[in-house]
Amino acid sequence: MSYRPSIAQLQVASKNEKDGLYEFTMKLVDGTQCRVFYSKAPDWKMTAISRLQKTPCPVCRKDFICKCMDQWSGDLHQQMIEDEWMQKALAE
Ligand SMILES: [Zn+2]
Repeated sequence: MSYRPSIAQLQVASKNEKDGLYEFTMKLVDGTQCRVFYSKAPDWKMTAISRLQKTPCPVCRKDFICKCMDQWSGDLHQQMIEDEWMQKALAE
């Protein structure tokens, strides 16, 4: 499998700073959009990721719910941390 997602854009969908809970809308360079949930206590931890059903899945091509993005959660989390996507999104 050669697909490897790369984050293009991140926006805060909702946040509860008191409890350290964050929901982001993530756009990948191939146009795929995902919803990611994070907790921060104090380190960022991805708790869930799901693809928004606006575009077909880049892996299995389904346009309904699938679990493909789960396998990239570690990879995407690493990009989130290394490129400081949450800090940038929260600063907007
Ligand atoms: Zn899929």
